[in-house]
Amino acid sequence: MKFVIIGGDAAGMSAASRAKRRAPELDVIVFEQTQDVSYSACGMPYNLADPSRPMDDLVVRPAHVFREKQNIDLRTGHRVERINRQDKTVTGTTIEGKAFTIDYDKLLIATGASPVKPPIDGVDLPGVMYLKLLEDGRRIKAFMKENNVTKAVIIGMGYIALEMCEALRERGIEVAMVKPRPVFLPWMHPELASMVKDVVEAHGIQLHAGHEIKAIERHNGILKVICEDMDLEGQMVLIAIGVKPNSELAEEAGLQLGPSKAIAVDRHLRTSDPEIYSAGDCADAFHIVTGKRTWVPLALRANRAGWAVADNVLGKHVEVEGIAGTAVFKVFELQVARTGLNSRQAEEAGFEPAEIVIKSRSRAHAHPGSKSILVNMVGDKKSGRLLGVQMVGEEGVAHRINAPAVALHAQMTVDKFSQCDLAYAPPFSPVWDPLLTAANQLMKQL
Ligand SMILES: Cc1cc2nc3c(=O)[nH]c(=O)nc-3n(C[C@H](O)[C@H](O)[C@H](O)COP(=O)(O)OP(=O)(O)OC[C@H]3O[C@@H](n4cnc5c(N)ncnc54)[C@H](O)[C@@H]3O)c2cc1C
Repeated sequence: MKFVIIGGDAAGMSAASRAKRRAPELDVIVFEQTQDVSYSACGMPYNLADPSRPMDDLVVRPAHVFREKQNIDLRTGHRVERINRQDKTVTGTTIEGKAFTIDYDKLLIATGASPVKPPIDGVDLPGVMYLKLLEDGRRIKAFMKENNVTKAVIIGMGYIALEMCEALRERGIEVAMVKPRPVFLPWMHPELASMVKDVVEAHGIQLHAGHEIKAIERHNGILKVICEDMDLEGQMVLIAIGVKPNSELAEEAGLQLGPSKAIAVDRHLRTSDPEIYSAGDCADAFHIVTGKRTWVPLALRANRAGWAVADNVLGKHVEVEGIAGTAVFKVFELQVARTGLNSRQAEEAGFEPAEIVIKSRSRAHAHPGSKSILVNMVGDKKSGRLLGVQMVGEEGVAHRINAPAVALHAQMTVDKFSQCDLAYAPPFSPVWDPLLTAANQLMKQL
């Protein structure tokens, strides 16, 4: 059997490795348009913060290891341009311009996502950067070195934009951030968002939310981001306004699309064509709280879906349960985390949400070094179910979010969650963990 995979990063290489490990006789062919496979895109902001670290530190397993040790037919520099479902082939062009065609028995589309480019002039000027592929990281690193960047503008204020503002500040670069929507971190409860905003501003970042961007211009090596009512200047502009799924191949092949035009897959990761699977950032998923289709481009689900596809190609009938949208990021001294729904999403999904915000501490009352933690918790008045949690604080946030994430998978009520036997010792939490305090408070409103 021939298992063909388009895309050689998290989802694609997870599927290839697992399939080959479980069935060494399987013919596994991976097409990757770049020269890079299996690297940590998530590590790029931290790598960029340190001029002495080579970008290739982030390669988890180089291409030759997949070829020589795992016997995977990995073809880098091969871009797939068409899927022909009738004759079960894919066609494309190599980096040298040679056309190729290959037939498949089972196909996996693992093409990931691409940065969104705003529809304005100047988005491809030299010095205007995007951060998605490892090659993008190398390009930014080289540009900063060669142009001695001292001032940069970031368009966007999402998690990658915020991780990058910290990375640039660490290199002593002056940073201004701008976006058209007026609200900073609109998915976050305003009290928590305001804690993040204060810290970002305290580090000297200029935040300009609510400014429509008209164009980017370049004069004498200086880029100018032109807004309706002001201009911002820098030697480098990073556009980080989100990503969109690379679903064009699937769309052209007539496969069904889901939310945000991600490729629609069932719980077995099958597309609307049973011989074709899709996994990772290009595909949708089921939300474990709403049960509905959603699109959340994050790393764990890409790796997990890759494994499940490999098992299913080998006839195991594995289902993936779904995602809670659990995410965490760091910005300066803060850890910012969420899982499940915020109250607006809960309302849109048909729940009757109640929510609270509590302020607690990362360590016991009298223990030195304790930091504030803000917790926002959302529950459903009708069923008592826990629907979502957000947290911000200087310590004890990143991994604490995993407890409510598990509770969401178990469909726990807030009451049941409040009874959980969570760990306590003074250096790690108050005796009533901040999550338990939040659950106890929320119960009063349900
Ligand atoms: C800066 C940054 C920070 C991040 N931080 C985090 C984090 O902290 N936590 C987290 O969970 N996630 C994070 N992510 C997201 C995470 O990296 C992605 O969710 C994950 O890489 C998705 O894996 P994937 O295999 O689906 O797609 P990708 O990693 O995008 O890989 C898709 C591959 O397909 C190739 N491809 C596309 N089209 C074709 C074609 N037609 N032919 C051949 N090859 C093709 C691409 O070149 C690419 O190599 C971050 C992403 C970035 C960019």
